[in-house]
Amino acid sequence: MKKYISVLLTLVMAMSLVACTGGSKKADLVMATNAEFQPYEFRDADNNIVGIDVEICQAIADELGRNLVIEDMAFDSIITSVYTGKADLGAAGMTITEDRLQSIDFSIPYATATQVIIVPNDSEIASPDDLVGKKIGVQLGTTGDIYSEDIEDAEIERYNKGYEAVQALIQGKIDAVIIDNEPAKVYVGKNPELKIVDEAFTNEEYAIAISKNNPELLAEVNAAITKLKESGKLDEIVNKYIAADN
Ligand code: GLN
Repeated sequence: MKKYISVLLTLVMAMSLVACTGGSKKADLVMATNAEFQPYEFRDADNNIVGIDVEICQAIADELGRNLVIEDMAFDSIITSVYTGKADLGAAGMTITEDRLQSIDFSIPYATATQVIIVPNDSEIASPDDLVGKKIGVQLGTTGDIYSEDIEDAEIERYNKGYEAVQALIQGKIDAVIIDNEPAKVYVGKNPELKIVDEAFTNEEYAIAISKNNPELLAEVNAAITKLKESGKLDEIVNKYIAADN
């Protein structure tokens, strides 16, 4: 009997120890991003990474009872980071493409987007068809980079940052920049000598990248996104960063 009691006591002690550590420290949920993509992820005046994707991932982490950790990196390192398991989520205004689906999975989409063409106000480029034979700036590894390869006789200049492509356009080194619509609005808003061509270059959907080895997380994230959509919280986050009249 005595022996049983001591075994029981040891068990109870072990269990409370597990409960203690489990309760005081939530497991990390690592989000890989590239904080150069306003309004989805960027640094505020205090150098904190903020934006739509950050708030969506924070809401997902809250839903999962995990602690969100943000890793800022080059855009074209995000998929590798998710693929190798260094990050749990890749969230960076990332467009679902067939090519990317070969190496990682995507959550259900949480936003629609377009690739737009930015040109100087006096440019003769008025539609995607006018890009033939032009010098076009894109951000390395983005869908702007991938899809601009199909433009006939165009010369593609690849930059590490979208900002650098826009600077080259202002300096007259290139004829146009192809980039996502929301960051494009931010760039044009800051540079009145530039405008966005009315007709978009592509239509796309943003989703969160997750390792193919982690179907449980994919299911949890999809459920959390569905909940955010249904509760109106997703719209609330988006409206906080994007003016309703846009
Ligand atoms: N939506 C584009 C892509 O997925 C660009 C994303 C970005 O630059 N953060 O390639």
